[in-house]
Amino acid sequence: MLVDSHCHLNFPEFKEDIDRVIANAADNQVKYMLTVNTRLSETLAVQSIAEKYKNVFCSVGVHPHDSKDYNDQSLINKLIDHANHPKVVALGETGLDYYYNNSDRDDQINCFKMHLESGTKLDMPVIIHTREADEDTIACLNEYPNAKGVFHCFSGSSEFAKQGLDHGLYISFSGIITFKKAEALRDAVRYVPLEKMLVETDSPFLAPLPHRGKRNEPAFTRYVAELVAKIKGVSFEEVAEVTTQNFFKLFNKAKASG
Ligand SMILES: [Zn+2]
Ligand SMILES: [Zn+2]
Repeated sequence: MLVDSHCHLNFPEFKEDIDRVIANAADNQVKYMLTVNTRLSETLAVQSIAEKYKNVFCSVGVHPHDSKDYNDQSLINKLIDHANHPKVVALGETGLDYYYNNSDRDDQINCFKMHLESGTKLDMPVIIHTREADEDTIACLNEYPNAKGVFHCFSGSSEFAKQGLDHGLYISFSGIITFKKAEALRDAVRYVPLEKMLVETDSPFLAPLPHRGKRNEPAFTRYVAELVAKIKGVSFEEVAEVTTQNFFKLFNKAKASG
């Protein structure tokens, strides 16, 4: 059994065939999915998917790209309110993206800290998106030593992975690890202990080989887990079992159903 720890099932790419996508996940051993919120304007749409499918959990949060629209202290209470929903098991995705800089850095930092504060208050994990912002990401985390969470779709160095692990975070790998030029990232897979690792698709983006360039979907979590197994020199079953246990340990509000 696998869990896709990060996907975006409310995105338009899934509008036509979401039933088939969820069935296809099950056919590929992906029993659970966490569909991740990126804007509060889409929170209800995300929650309604998690209400409809019993094996789909969801989060509530604001993507760093959109933080300019939500940089107001009232965000903390809004996050806490939405987190009451029974299927909401995490806050995010939040974080810092200095590669695209779609929002000003100050807005991104403030928004990220509001998620960390809400996560600390609720004792709820935070899904962290971080790109070319290692130093500021760690500086924010250091202000919230009790915050727990995951670096999702990890694309950083082993050194940065170590800093996340030192903070107690999990590290989630996506289909990027299958890309030809991702040798440094495969070193990070080698470095991160399986006991602190999650797998994800970030679908509909970043389809792994052999589907690169096409729409990604939760079923393709399998390719990520297969490559992790190969890199680590362990069986696929072991990767599946341990990463699934890790998922339910971190997102402890998520309850396995049957
Ligand atoms: Zn992300
Ligand atoms: Zn995402």
